[in-house]
Amino acid sequence: MIMDFYEFENAVASTAIYPESGEGTLTALNYTVLGLAGEAGEILNKVKKVYRDKGGVLSIEDRAAISKELGDVLWYAARAAAELGYTLEEVAEYNVEKLRDRQVRGVLAGTGDDR
Ligand SMILES: [Mg+2]
Repeated sequence: MIMDFYEFENAVASTAIYPESGEGTLTALNYTVLGLAGEAGEILNKVKKVYRDKGGVLSIEDRAAISKELGDVLWYAARAAAELGYTLEEVAEYNVEKLRDRQVRGVLAGTGDDR
């Protein structure tokens, strides 16, 4: 199955049940970014447990479990973008443009959001 951002966003939207979903409000945005951080935290915890419980050896099962959490991150990223009034395609394109511009100007390394 090949899925593009548009198809993914539509699938995500059909399961987007939370306060003020789709209304573009601060409450809706807040819910999505809290979820985004929570799912990112689940990834961190799974990686931590590879160190704690598995001697730092990342198994195929660990990779699969972490990839599922990445899917949860994507879900919340899609909804956060939607609540802001953007598509995932727009967010992805902007990110690539930003990185290419930094690459051309030789400032890929370094700090600061607006370099
Ligand atoms: Mg999860």
